[in-house]
Amino acid sequence: LPINLLDLLQNVVDNFWSIAKARQITLAIESAPDSCYIMADGTLLSRAFNNLIDNAIKYGKDGMHIALAITEENNYWHISIKDQGIGIAQEDFERIFQVFGRAPQMETKRISGLGLGLAFVHTVIVGHQGSVTLESTQGVGTTFHIYLPILHDEESVLL
Ligand code: ATP
Ligand code: MG
Repeated sequence: LPINLLDLLQNVVDNFWSIAKARQITLAIESAPDSCYIMADGTLLSRAFNNLIDNAIKYGKDGMHIALAITEENNYWHISIKDQGIGIAQEDFERIFQVFGRAPQMETKRISGLGLGLAFVHTVIVGHQGSVTLESTQGVGTTFHIYLPILHDEESVLL
């Protein structure tokens, strides 16, 4: 179905309000077009963004800011989720997208998880003809970049 990405992302962000507040973490969609349509399964996509924000908070620092943005890039919506958390070593970039893949860091070992969240994210985004990449600096933070194909003719689809 045609889905407005901004509405979907805002709903996911709103669901983290109390969890974030308990750790003095702020999160906000800093910029986005009013209308950014994609063809998607809203339930799966919401869960994927939920997993990314869950990670940003879980591997984040109290009091930090999580910045989200949606921009247009060559027929794709580019969604970025930038945290100021513990970061991920370059050598672990591939492993974390695998089922049960977690970074073998001390910090990570003290935080429980199965390592399924990002495997799900990858499956869902690729299933929507999109892609996921990341940039990270240990001790500084991580930015996940998600690309999803723009639905240009949402009006005709909706009619
Ligand atoms: P769960 O299945 O509950 O989500 P998980 O969070 O360990 O468990 P993933 O969400 O797949 O699993 O993440 C895999 C690993 O990637 C994490 O264990 C962590 O080491 C690393 N990671 C993911 N997101 C971040 C982030 N924003 N900052 C730092 N490390 C991260
Ligand atoms: Mg996770």
